[in-house]
Amino acid sequence: MLPVLVDDTHRGHDPAYELNAGRTVAPVPERPARVEVIHAALVAAGFATQLSRRHDDEVLDGVHDPEMVAYLRGAYTAWREAGGPEVMIADTFRSPAWAGGGRRPRSPLGALGWYCTDTATPLVAGSYAAARAAVDLACTAADLVLAGASAAYALTRPPGHHAGPSYFGGFCLLNHAAAAAQRLRGSGTVAIIDVDVHHGNGTQDVFWTAGDVLYLSMHTDPDHQYPFFSGATDELGAGPGQGTTRNLPLAPGTGDAGFLRAVEVACELVTAFDPASVVVSLGLDVAAEDPLGQLEVTDDGLARAGALLGRLQRPTVLVQEGGYALPELGQLAVTTLSAFTRVRG
Ligand SMILES: [Zn+2]
Repeated sequence: MLPVLVDDTHRGHDPAYELNAGRTVAPVPERPARVEVIHAALVAAGFATQLSRRHDDEVLDGVHDPEMVAYLRGAYTAWREAGGPEVMIADTFRSPAWAGGGRRPRSPLGALGWYCTDTATPLVAGSYAAARAAVDLACTAADLVLAGASAAYALTRPPGHHAGPSYFGGFCLLNHAAAAAQRLRGSGTVAIIDVDVHHGNGTQDVFWTAGDVLYLSMHTDPDHQYPFFSGATDELGAGPGQGTTRNLPLAPGTGDAGFLRAVEVACELVTAFDPASVVVSLGLDVAAEDPLGQLEVTDDGLARAGALLGRLQRPTVLVQEGGYALPELGQLAVTTLSAFTRVRG
């Protein structure tokens, strides 16, 4: 049976509101109940849970700029000491259009806009600890696989794939999928399959020049969906990583047939790359019911996707990314992970 790694620390990341497309949104879509409903549904379906193990910050080496991690760790305290309100949201952002690239400001408010990419990623007192615990979950799953487990699933929150080497955003603070891949990378090549409805710009950027890590993403065409500025087919990596990034954008409204064709193409690319292990960024926001996604994937489509990923027959770490349809989310996770497990035998 697939081990399910869990940790309650995520509950401390519970912002009262965010700003999304110009509107104040409350409650926020990325909230503790997401993990609670998935956890409950998996337990009811017979999956066994276990707690994660703490890892030193060196698991973030090669994933994030240490200065960004240090900022993130102390950001909220500094913000409050400077008189900021309970929810921390940037209002001014660095732009690449500025001559010289701009400069990193000293003030807590200014520094937030240096690192954060948007207004939908609010920070509160427990945010950093939650993101750091998610990294521990993903790394514990990687440890299990390195010790011989066929696969392990980390029930992570907040999601991570929009957090890049020196930026964060899109509900994500630290990139736990990338941390798991980095850990597995010590024992051979790695393929990351990102099935979240949003392009994993952060993961793509972490491994942009890595020739030994294949990054594959299927997502709504970024012309129509966050993160808007990346996820096109002509983004292929660079240097030694030229050709080890592949994006498979899908038109809004794409259903099972188009989605599963993209998963099949991704699986063919993985087989050709022949990695020692696989990381799956499991976004369940591809589901038709999802309030944020623009795809129309059914329960059956997710079951078939789970089976395709299982049939790769590679040691696999699955980490939870997006998925916001609270009434259906638990069942969507059970469906996908059960199908994955069944074909593993
Ligand atoms: Zn997503």
